[in-house]
Amino acid sequence: MKLAVIGAGVAGRLLAWRLAKSGYTVELFEKQEKGEQNACSFAAAGILSPLAELEMAELDIFTLGNRSMQLYPQWLKQLSTPVFYRQIGSLVTAHGTDKVELDHFYRVVQRKLGADGSSQPLVEKINVGDKEVDLSHLGDCLFIPSEGQVDPVGLMKSVIHDLELADKVTVHYGQNIAAVTQNQIEIAGKQKDFDWVFDCRGLGAKNDLPLRAVRGELLWLKAPDVEIKHLTRLIHPRYRIYVVPRPDNVYLIGATEIESEDYSPVSVRSSLELLSAAYSVHRGFGEARIIHNVVNCRPALPNNLPLVQTDNGLTTINGLYRHGILLAPAVVEQAINTFEQAANKEIGNVQYAN
Ligand SMILES: Cc1cc2nc3c(=O)[nH]c(=O)nc-3n(C[C@H](O)[C@H](O)[C@H](O)COP(=O)(O)OP(=O)(O)OC[C@H]3O[C@@H](n4cnc5c(N)ncnc54)[C@H](O)[C@@H]3O)c2cc1C
Repeated sequence: MKLAVIGAGVAGRLLAWRLAKSGYTVELFEKQEKGEQNACSFAAAGILSPLAELEMAELDIFTLGNRSMQLYPQWLKQLSTPVFYRQIGSLVTAHGTDKVELDHFYRVVQRKLGADGSSQPLVEKINVGDKEVDLSHLGDCLFIPSEGQVDPVGLMKSVIHDLELADKVTVHYGQNIAAVTQNQIEIAGKQKDFDWVFDCRGLGAKNDLPLRAVRGELLWLKAPDVEIKHLTRLIHPRYRIYVVPRPDNVYLIGATEIESEDYSPVSVRSSLELLSAAYSVHRGFGEARIIHNVVNCRPALPNNLPLVQTDNGLTTINGLYRHGILLAPAVVEQAINTFEQAANKEIGNVQYAN
């Protein structure tokens, strides 16, 4: 069966890779040139937080996110180059006067989990110092043992590397696909037919879906004076920030969330908010160096939920919003399942050669 995947963000890349692993012949089309890192997926911090995201998100995100947390360790083992992945739990904390926000966070999450019928203690109330001595001054916090992080840039590179080496995969760079429809794409004014087409264009699908862009800004710091291992969220009445520890004292501080399709550089206001919040978590950030700053726009649908939709000859993944790295394995799995069910119905007893 001859398949086309349009868009090599985290969704398209992982999808093409899993389809190839199942033996399908896959062509992956990406409008960026080889080596360019402009997809939203390259900007992500790589937080894998199904539970902490529940404060703002629907239970679906938690359920899909948990499925991804099962798939990630299995899938990463199948890649030929290692990808940084850590699952040691996350901390959610707040400053003294904002502790009321922390209680609110806890109640909201518990209420939403109750709707899931879950009785396990998935969130523990502890003292920050129990996990991070340097953050003892923050006092009470919530510890979520199941959460973790992955390096999205490493993931993106590793998956494309294996795709480029795979027998039945062709990766086409610099190909801006003008139209994506059932069994067909339009490229350079010509129609090209496939047995099935997968649309993973993110914001590139704006003409076909009611997508909006949500700008996010993220700063990378090198902070030799800071030793934090756990992903740490700071709850604040006006903004939420997270500190994502990477090897070699690198920390990602993020991320803003601004309703705008604006790719201009990080603003002064955002930098002030992110950096002052980071400094309030650990004074060692005062001497840190800003080594990288990142801006991109998240593809969001009106309900802020992911879309996995299959019609005959066309499967769409989109609307991954602020959870694309977390949700990608689960939505890719779902897309392949629905495609295979629909394709089996459509082709009846006709067997395609994989
Ligand atoms: C600052 C920031 C931090 C984030 N942090 C996290 C995080 O910690 N955890 C998390 O889970 N998520 C995070 N996200 C969200 C996550 O990055 C997105 O949800 C995810 O990257 C969306 O992936 P995607 O594959 O759908 O889209 P994209 O990554 O945008 O990929 C779409 C691809 O399609 C290509 N394309 C578009 N149109 C065409 C066309 N016509 N022809 C060919 N190719 C086309 C594009 O060039 C692109 O490569 C963050 C986002 C931002 C901005």
